[in-house]
Amino acid sequence: MEYPKIFEACPVCKNKVRIVESERNAQVEAGVMNPKATIPALFTQSFMFDPNDKSIILARRQVPMLLASYDICSECGTLYCTRVEKKMIMMEPGVKAKGQG
Ligand SMILES: [Zn+2]
Repeated sequence: MEYPKIFEACPVCKNKVRIVESERNAQVEAGVMNPKATIPALFTQSFMFDPNDKSIILARRQVPMLLASYDICSECGTLYCTRVEKKMIMMEPGVKAKGQG
C-alpha cells in the first residue's frame, strides 16, 4: 500500500467541507495560527508490533506506525478518515516511542 493515503471527501455524502479543518483555516486567516499546523478531530497511532515482545525494545528495532487523522463532515456529521501516514519509529527501553521521519 502507498502512503500517505488521502481521502478528499465524505464517504457518505461526498461533501468536501470539514468542520475542524474549516475552523482551523479561519484561525490561520485571522493570523492567530501557524499555516503549517494541522488539527484533526481525532488522531490515532497504530504501532505494528507485538506489545508482549520485549526483544523489539531491547534491540532498539524500528517498527512501522500508522498515523490516521479524522475530521467531521460539515453536511452530515460523519467522522471519517482524511489521511493515513506510515512512519518508522524506534522503540527504546524506558522511553516513549520516538519519531523517525
Ligand atoms: Zn457527509
